[in-house]
Amino acid sequence: MKKGPEAFLKRLKRQPPRDLDAVVHGFHEAVFAKTDCLTCANCCKTTGPLWTERDKDRVAKRLGLKTADFEASYLRRDEEDDWVLKQLPCPFLESDNACSIYEDRPKACREYPHTDRVKQVQILELTAKNALVCPAVGEIVQRMEAIYAEKSATPAGRGTAAATPAPRRGRRR
Ligand code: SF4
Ligand code: SF4
Repeated sequence: MKKGPEAFLKRLKRQPPRDLDAVVHGFHEAVFAKTDCLTCANCCKTTGPLWTERDKDRVAKRLGLKTADFEASYLRRDEEDDWVLKQLPCPFLESDNACSIYEDRPKACREYPHTDRVKQVQILELTAKNALVCPAVGEIVQRMEAIYAEKSATPAGRGTAAATPAPRRGRRR
């Protein structure tokens, strides 16, 4: 049988627990409360964001560029015709791992790694991929494996409410 986050999250998708969002949001809060993204920046080093039209306009303006010139300097279209960075690590990542365009960074950067959004069941494949990039997501998935293995071993079974729902929050960087 396939091991790792992908196999576990595929199984979860086939039979999603009713309390999935509450459980994941609780783990997101707990794990990010002790995670210092400034000592990591692996997402900015290895996977850039997709850029929306608004992202491009906003960042181009910040840099004093026309959007077309910003695109030409920093972006390319990928195989799915999305705008992505020409090169990684992200050119806006500074040597101390801070983001030089933090206030205007792309929406995808603000929302990464998406473990605080609703309907987690819809992004389990993405979470499996992110677990290989982001150590915080890796730990969240490990905690999910532990709690759902525990639940499936109890007479109450899957889908029982257990974790405290946590407020949603954006990414820390
Ligand atoms: S979001 Fe994850 S990968 Fe990105 S800097 Fe924080 S811990 Fe690292
Ligand atoms: S724009 Fe900022 S937050 Fe986004 S990948 Fe680049 S350095 Fe990281």
